[in-house]
Formats: sequence, C-alpha cells, structure tokens
Amino acid sequence: MSSIFTKIVEGEIPARVVYEDETTMAFLDANPLAPGHTLVVPKAEYERLNDVPPDVAADLYATLHELVPAVEEAVDADATTVAFNNGEAAGQEVPHVHGHIVPRFEGDGGGPIHAIAPGSPDLSDDELDGIADEIESRA
Ligand code: 5GP
Repeated sequence: MSSIFTKIVEGEIPARVVYEDETTMAFLDANPLAPGHTLVVPKAEYERLNDVPPDVAADLYATLHELVPAVEEAVDADATTVAFNNGEAAGQEVPHVHGHIVPRFEGDGGGPIHAIAPGSPDLSDDELDGIADEIESRA
C-alpha cells in the first residue's frame, strides 16, 4: 500500500506543496510543531535513509539546503531544527523518508536535538575506540 506521502506526491490527497522537482517534494506538515514546519521527501517511496540511493540522497539534501533558508525567511525564524526520525524506534510514524524543517524562535521553549535522549551513556575510552572502529570500518 502506498504511504500517505506517496498519495500527496501523486496528488491523490491535498497538501500545501511549497517545492517540487523531478525527484523531491516539500510540503507543510499537517500538524506543525511551529509555523512553517515543512517536510522534505523523495518522491519515490523509501522507508529509511539507509534505503535511499546515493543520487536521490544528494537530491534530497539539495532540496533541504534550498528550503531551510526559504522556510526561515518566510516565517522570520531565528533558527531551524532539521531532523529525520529514521526508523520506528526513533519515532518515525510515516514509513516514507522525510526530513523535518522545524522553525525555531528565541525563547520558544523547545529543546535541542540532545533532548531526545534521557541521558548520556557512560562509555570508557576503550568502548569509544571500539565503536569508532566499528563505524569507520563500515563507512
Ligand atoms: P514522523 O513521526 O514519521 O517523523 O513524522 C510524520 C509527520 O507527518 C508528522 O509530523 C505528521 O504531522 C505529518 N503528517 C502525517 N500525515 C500527514 C498528512 O496527511 N499530510 C501532511 N502534510 N503531513 C502529515
């Protein structure tokens, strides 16, 4: 079954589309965390960032790069939080990759991205070295 975002891409359900090109689209979030909260998606349906082919990933980043200042200027934001919930355990509800651009304002009461975790794990230097090696060997 098509995701809700594929239905938006295909014009089956309405959305406030703010940008579109051959491979990507951006539209306002239906339940905004702030005025101007925008979602950027690849038109083709990929569940997670890991599934997006490199050329589409580059297009997606290019669209984010263009939309972030456009959104900030449009709503006179002081900053933006730009984030992906990448997988269900991270809070992803719609299984179609989407980047959130959430406008931020001085004193808006929101937290930084660090607020997603209840605390920092206590890792030894050896553990940190091991994790860094594991990541480096796969990158
Ligand atoms: P997630 O939790 O998957 O990262 O975020 C999904 C986002 O999609 C939510 O912020 C939610 O408000 C938004 N959303 C869900 N359904 C629709 C819809 O039909 N139209 C639009 N424009 N946004 C939607």
